[in-house]
Order: sequence, then C-alpha cells, then structure tokens
Amino acid sequence: MRKEKEQLPLLPLRGLLVFPNMVLHLDVGRERSVKSLEEAMVGDNRVLLMAQKDAKVDEPAEADLFTVGTVALIKQMIKLPGGTIRVLVEGLTRAAVLRYLQKDPFFKVEAQLVPEETAKTAEVEALRRSLLYQFEQYLKASRKIPPETLAAVSEIEEPGRLADIIASHLTLKIGQKQELLEAAEAKQRLEKLSKILSREIEIVEIERRINVRVRKQMEKTQKEYYLREQMKAIQKELGEKDERTAEADEYREKIAKSELPEKVAEKALEEADRLEKMPPAAAEGIVIRTYLDWLLELPWSKMTDDRLDLDGAAEILDEDHYGLQKVKERIIEYLAVRQLAEKLKGPILCLIGPPGVGKTSLARSIARALERNFVRISLGGVRDEAEIRGHRRTYVGALPGRIIQGMRQAGSRNPVFLMDEVDKMSTDFRGDPSSALLEVLDPEQNHAFSDHYIELPFDLSQVMFITTANAPHNIPQPLLDRMETIHLPGYTEEDKVEIAKRHLIPKQIEEHGLAPSNLTFSEGAVREIIRLYTREAGVRNLERSVAAICRKVAREVVKDREIRVSISRRSLQKHLGVPRFRYGMGEKEDEIGVATGLAWTEAGGDLLSIEVTLMKGKGKMTLTGKLGEVMQESARAALSYIRSRAESLELDEDFYEKTDIHIHVPEGAIPKDGPSAGIAIATALASALSGAPVWREVALTGEITLRGRVLPVGGIKEKMLAAHRAGLKYMLMPVENRKDLSDIPANVRRRVEVKLVEHMDEVLNFALLKEPRKEPAEDLALDDKKPVGAVCGDDPGLQRQDDSALRH
Ligand code: ADP
Repeated sequence: MRKEKEQLPLLPLRGLLVFPNMVLHLDVGRERSVKSLEEAMVGDNRVLLMAQKDAKVDEPAEADLFTVGTVALIKQMIKLPGGTIRVLVEGLTRAAVLRYLQKDPFFKVEAQLVPEETAKTAEVEALRRSLLYQFEQYLKASRKIPPETLAAVSEIEEPGRLADIIASHLTLKIGQKQELLEAAEAKQRLEKLSKILSREIEIVEIERRINVRVRKQMEKTQKEYYLREQMKAIQKELGEKDERTAEADEYREKIAKSELPEKVAEKALEEADRLEKMPPAAAEGIVIRTYLDWLLELPWSKMTDDRLDLDGAAEILDEDHYGLQKVKERIIEYLAVRQLAEKLKGPILCLIGPPGVGKTSLARSIARALERNFVRISLGGVRDEAEIRGHRRTYVGALPGRIIQGMRQAGSRNPVFLMDEVDKMSTDFRGDPSSALLEVLDPEQNHAFSDHYIELPFDLSQVMFITTANAPHNIPQPLLDRMETIHLPGYTEEDKVEIAKRHLIPKQIEEHGLAPSNLTFSEGAVREIIRLYTREAGVRNLERSVAAICRKVAREVVKDREIRVSISRRSLQKHLGVPRFRYGMGEKEDEIGVATGLAWTEAGGDLLSIEVTLMKGKGKMTLTGKLGEVMQESARAALSYIRSRAESLELDEDFYEKTDIHIHVPEGAIPKDGPSAGIAIATALASALSGAPVWREVALTGEITLRGRVLPVGGIKEKMLAAHRAGLKYMLMPVENRKDLSDIPANVRRRVEVKLVEHMDEVLNFALLKEPRKEPAEDLALDDKKPVGAVCGDDPGLQRQDDSALRH
C-alpha cells in the first residue's frame, strides 16, 4: 500500500463535505480560506478540503476541524462582487491530516493521502449490488433525485467510488458523511452506507404516507377555495353580487322598510353584517337567517285599534254564548275599567271550569268583541322553563319560547292571548315554567320580557292575557294571586238544550256544509243526546254528537241535495248507536248498604255509589276503589261514629269484633279523594249494619266528624247539577253550604229538593228507611215524562226503556 505524505493548504468547509470524484462549486469568503486558495493556485492547484465540526464557528481552530478530508483540484476560479470567490473543485482522494504546519495567514498541513483500495471480493460485489438495489428503492420512494441518476450510478464498477457517489446524492448529516469519508476501506464504506440507506428508505416511506394523507385534505379544501374565489371573481366581472352579500342586502332592505324599534334594528343590522361574512356553507348562516326572520316578523310596534263601545262588546258576547250572565258582566266590567284607566295594568283573567263549558270560546269572543287579534297556546304538559322563555341561540335548533311564538302568530302587539290549562304545568329539574310565566303576567315586568332566543326585551304590556284552568287548586299559588278568577261551573240540562239549539246545531250544520233545511233536531232528541249519550258539565260531547249526526246526514245530502232529515228521539239510535249512559243513574231500588254520594271532579260533578258489605270476621275494614288518603280517613271516622252510636242504631254492641267490613266505591280505575263523601259512607255503613235500606232518591254530600257533625264541602253547584242530571229527588248537604245555593239555577232547585243538615242523626233519619216503601216504580220515568213531553212537540214522552240496553 502506497502512502504519500504531502504538504497542502487547507480549506475549512462549513456544513458541507466533498467526496472524491465529486465536482462542485464553492463560494469562499473567509480571509484565511482565500489565502489558502491563492496558495494552491501558486502551487499545483490542489487544496485539502476539510469539514468543520460545527458550521457556526467562523474562525475554526485545529480542534474545530475533522482530521480526514478530501484533496481536491481547483478547476476554475471566479471573483464575485464583494470579494467572494467562487471555485469549481473536483474531489481527488481522501487524506488524513498528520500535523498542522501553520495557521496563519492560512492553514497549512502535512497530510497523508489515502488512495482508494479496491479489493474486489465476492462479498464486496454482493454489497455493491445490494447497495445499488437499495438506492433504486430510495429513488423510487423519495423522488427528490432525478431518476436518470440511477442510470449514471449503476455504471460505476468500482465499489468504493459507487459508495461515494451515492453518499454525495443523499441529504445526510455532516457527521454521517464524515463517517463515510473516514471509512477508507470500500467494504466498510459499503456496509455503513447500506445501513444508512435502509433507514433513509424507511423514513422516506413514512414521509410519503404522511404526505399523501395531508395532500388529500389539502387538495379538497384548496380546490373548493379556489373554485369559490373563481366564482366570486366571475360574479364580480359580471357585476353580480355573491350569494351572501345579496342575502345580507336583502335583509338590510327589509330592516330599513320595517318599523323596528331602533335597538332591534341595530341588532338586526349587526346580524346581517355577520351573515355577509359567513362562508356560504357554514351552518351558522342558517341560524342567523332564522334569527333575522324572527326579528323581522315579530310585531314590535304594530297595534290594532280597540273597539271602545261596551254595548257593542256586550252584544257580541251575547251573540256567541248563551247564558253565562255573570261571567259576561264581569268581562264587560273588566273591559270598562281597562278603558277608563288606559294605564291601569288590569289583572289577568282566569277562567276556571270543567272542559267544554266554553272557556276557550269565551276568550275568542272577548277578542272579537274588542276587535283584537287572538292567539291561544296550551300550557298543558309544559315543564321546562325554556318552553316559555326559549332556548339560547347557541343550542342547535334553538327557537323562541311559546310566548314569543304566540306573539309572532298574533301579528300585533296587543292581542288577546289565551293560555290554556295553566293548572296542567309541571315542574322538574329543567326549571319551573311557572316562574317564567310570572314574569310574563306581571304588569311591572312584562313591558320588557326577555326571551333567551330573541335576546332583546319585548313589550307585552299591551297584551290582554286570559288563562284557563279546570280547577283552581293545581294553579301555582303565586300565579293564582296575580289573576282574577271567574268560575264557570257547568250547565244545567236546560242550558244545554238552549246552547245546542242556538249555537251548536247551527254551527255544526254550517261547518258540515249543510243547509239549515237539510237537518232539524227535535227538542226531545236533543235532550236525549244530553241524557243518554253524554255525561259532562260542559257541552263538548254534545257538540261532538251533533257533529257525528251532521256527518252521517252529509253523506245523504251528497246523494240528494233537497233531502230533509229530522232527528227525533226514535231515530237517534240509528245515528249515534246504543246509548252510552243510563239516565238517572241513581239506584234502581232502595238497597241495603248502598248510598249515593256526590263527587266534585275536574269534569264537573258526578255521582259516587258507595257500597258496604259485611262478612263474618274479626273487625277488619277493607277499602277499595282507588280511594285517596283523605277519603280513607273519612271512612274510618264514619265507622267510629257508627260504633259510638251502636246503641241508638240498635246494633250489636261488639258488632265490629265479629264482622269484617268492606267498603267499595265502583269505577275503581278513577282515583277518588276528599272528605266530602263522609256522610254518604256513614249512611251506607249504618244501612249495612242495621239492615235498613237507603232511600235511592237521596244524594248525600258532607264531611263527617267523630261526633257526627256535618261539615261544609266544596263544589255544591257542580254536585247539584250532577244530582239533577241523574234525576235524584233529594240532596242532603251541610247547613253551612246554604250560601252556595244562591248560585243554583231555579229550575234545578225545583227538581232537586235540598235538605240542609247539621248532624249525622238527621241524615240517617232522612235517608234510612225504617221499613221498605211501597215502591212507586215509575217514579223516575214519570218525572222524566213531564218536562220532556212538555217541551218536545213531536216526541211521545220518554219511556222507561229496558235497563240492560241502557247500561254502559
Ligand atoms: P273549554 O275551553 O271550556 O274546554 P270550549 O270553549 O272549547 O270549552 O267549548 C266547547 C264548545 O262549546 C265550543 O264550541 C263552544 O262554542 C261551545 N260552548 C260552550 N259554552 C257555550 C255557550 N254558553 N254558548 C254557546 N256555545 C258554547
């Protein structure tokens, strides 16, 4: 092995390394380096190129430089402006520095040249081929190097040189390249390079996968962006606005034209600006648009003029509704006060009564009388504050609450606003709707009602709110305090007949597109619909039955326009089917252990039949029929009273030790509660225990104390109407309820005789029969005959029909 020592000028390189056989340009600027070049030019144009360990060092000392470099031939030299020199060098051979001869004015070293060793063993050849293959792989994967390079490289036979050339093509760290440069033996160099290459291939592969993924995404958004920009440019060229701008402008125009209050208009304009800036596909655009539509469509300042003449209003109320004199008067008074004191923030009306007594239609009628718009919302089942007050706009699909929705529907700022079923709201974890309602109904606050969605205060102070409820006890107390309640207890049979004749029948005939001559009802028929097909305080089912008949008749009218159908009692079954109720639901006979109580339900009044049976036993009392706690206690109190009276009732002294008592109130699916069945239970008990039958024509209501006093109860009017409906003759009720009698229509009082009682003894005296009466079996039927026959010209009186057909 020939090794030459030579003295050469040294040129430090930064961040760069030159392999033998490599030709490249270098820009040289450092003074010492320039001197080195000059020295070389003076000599044989050769210079030792040596990489710096750290490229950042400006004035490298011996220790900053590697010890193995490349002797290179300077082939060309150009002076660039600014004193830099560009040289073209060609690497010749590796050389190791032996010692430094001088540092200034340039480095000069004694170096040992390392000629290329070429030991062409089979192993080296194998390494060479494998390296070539790897390089090919690398090229394919990386695409950083032009593919022609492969052709050029594969022609190199010499393994060492091949390694050098390949290394020079790779972007490697200086340290790695230096290692390759220092590997003097070809085999060693090939091995090192092979290792480096396989790692590089791996990295490039990963890089490529990442790139593909990133590019896919980029391409899509870029393409869209590009297309959109292009579209904008085209539209601009054509003098067209882009969609968003056009839309925003449209809104701006609408806002300018509308009479929005200043604050609202400001907010709307802000939103229009926001809309313009939205990218077209953004979902938020839709949200803004909906919001703007809401702002624009709410009646911020639109008012209708009120009808001021009270007589006119009264006329309309009369026109729409039969009877209800008291209620109508209250309404007219209310309207009068509202007129006199414009600013008076009148209390809110609350119409309370069973279904179908005309609460909704009264409210509608009030709106008509005042010439105001009418809206109705139902609060039944509302249990979320947000249903009243809306959801914030940040929620997906948010909308304003029902109040604001109602206002939009009303189209004016001063409608009659009916809130149905305030007693059917409930509370849960989502907040209490009634507290939101308080704000709506409070005259002090409702001039600036805040809806979560609208975000701007809305003035509700001109709205006339009317609420309805079936019963007062379920209305939240604070709400009830704010409202003026008007009770509509239900109608008598006479009322219902009149309502049907004057309102329901003409209305249904018209609604079904019939001519008045097509269909007529006899009064007897109407009465029988009321008695046998409906049992209600209101007239809803009555109206439904009339509608059912109208539908049937409509079918016939289609065939023959001139047809005249008159509905009499006899033809009722044909149209309405088998009767659903038994009129006069009181007991058929005077029975032992059965008494008729009265209940006050949300549907008005109803009969409660109370049954008691005795069995041999040990004094157990069983109560069935879904009785509430209060009713059960009331039954116990009744029993205790009877026990204390055992002697006077001629009962066995210790009867309760040998007998089990079962009290049952039929229609078990319906929950029943309250103390008002007290005297009825006591009567049934006394009857069962003493064996004296209860007079079947007597209805009983009243709470009982342990000493037998009878305490007052509620719902007298409803109960009495029920007793009347059922055709009972007597009604026993507490003395203290006397005041309630003034409300009862005269014709009802004529038919149902009221007995006021103070003590249970009076009740038992009256209701228990000492001995069975001589049953005047036709009693009820005779009773029915009179009024029906009298009013009903075409019907031959109501005959008592076979009971089995009448049971439901
Ligand atoms: P509510 O709201 O109390 O449940 P509605 O207002 O729905 O009852 O009344 C049911 C039907 O009965 C309506 O068609 C209504 O016009 C009619 N109605 C109720 N009371 C009267 C009345 N006094 N005069 C005329 N029609 C009545």
